[in-house]
Amino acid sequence: MGFDLLQLVNLPRWNRKLLLGYWSIILFSIITTSVYNLVVLLRHDNQFAPLFTLNTLWMCLAMLCIEALHYWMNRSNDYIIIIGGAVISYGMVNSFPNVTALLTILYVPILISIFYFQIRKVIFSYIISLACLYSLFFFNLCYHSKYTVYDLIAMTLVLTIGGAAALAIMSRGSELMGHLRSSIASGQDLLIKNIIMDKLAKTDALTELYNHMAFHEYLDKLIEQGEKYNLSFQLALLDIDHFKKVNDTYGHRAGDVVLKAVAQTIKDMVSLNDFPARYGGEEFAIIFTDMELEKALYNLENIRKRIEEQHHEELKGQAVTISIGVHDYKKGCTKECLFSGADLALYEAKRNGRNRTVVHHTTKKQ
Ligand code: GH3
Ligand code: MG
Ligand code: MG
Repeated sequence: MGFDLLQLVNLPRWNRKLLLGYWSIILFSIITTSVYNLVVLLRHDNQFAPLFTLNTLWMCLAMLCIEALHYWMNRSNDYIIIIGGAVISYGMVNSFPNVTALLTILYVPILISIFYFQIRKVIFSYIISLACLYSLFFFNLCYHSKYTVYDLIAMTLVLTIGGAAALAIMSRGSELMGHLRSSIASGQDLLIKNIIMDKLAKTDALTELYNHMAFHEYLDKLIEQGEKYNLSFQLALLDIDHFKKVNDTYGHRAGDVVLKAVAQTIKDMVSLNDFPARYGGEEFAIIFTDMELEKALYNLENIRKRIEEQHHEELKGQAVTISIGVHDYKKGCTKECLFSGADLALYEAKRNGRNRTVVHHTTKKQ
């Protein structure tokens, strides 16, 4: 599959949210200390807790560094966020050594690493959580005196279980991701197949122009739009002259090659706004949508002349000619009226000697 599913998750946005979360934890610790002090005040107890401890200031400073690194080092952003989680949990545990339950906050970096869905980030977060735990035990006097080596082993075990659980979540997630990837891939396959089928259904196999059915679908829609918005367009029917003779003289296979060559010339000489189709046998149709009749006639004449100048190996160097009948659509003209006009013009072109373009009602020998 050509893309990573994780790209669908807007990680920079989540990183920003996590940073906000860290700031909220610092704010929360200041608020709870204030509430604690208020209670102390009301109870006339003198054991106030300092509102801004050195730890809080240290955490704020560390968070500012994290913000700066997050801003400047885009590539390792995720690791910086995980380190931010470790800084906050370490700071909190360090600030309130008497609140035993706070030790569980050392899980935070591991929990955050799950966001990124990468084993190496889980392992990284596990290592820094352990580093936080050990430095608390060895450098924080309060912890050092309060907890034994058994507590340290127990906490190490608890963090290890946390890390292992994160890895298990990851592997389950990878499994689901695999399923999701394969179902997206098969969805894309199906979409591509549908597009190909749709194209095949609308394309003529020999000439690769639009086929009869696609042509009528398009024309129906165009007439509907024409009625609604007073649009004008031109329908041209192009028929190869004396094609039966070509087949009879050079064979059906040579006839096919010529049909293909004529179709290619038509395709090459119309614009993206025009709709060229193989209407049937040796008959083609073009709808010009984006121009005046004069411009459409000019283009048709160029096509006719180009075909007349094309010499085919299969016909021993001979060329074929085409006759063209054109009808200019105006609001109120039905599909039948449009076709009968173009047909009459084509018939007139044939009757008048072929290899010419005739507009319905206006006979024009070029
Ligand atoms: P006109 O100038 O009056 O159009 O004469 P024509 O011979 O072109 O017209 P007619 O309708 O009598 O013959 C059309 C021929 O086109 C008959 C048929 O064999 C041939 N044709 C139709 N479809 C194909 C095709 O797919 N391949 C080949 N090789 N010939 C085809
Ligand atoms: Mg013909
Ligand atoms: Mg014909």
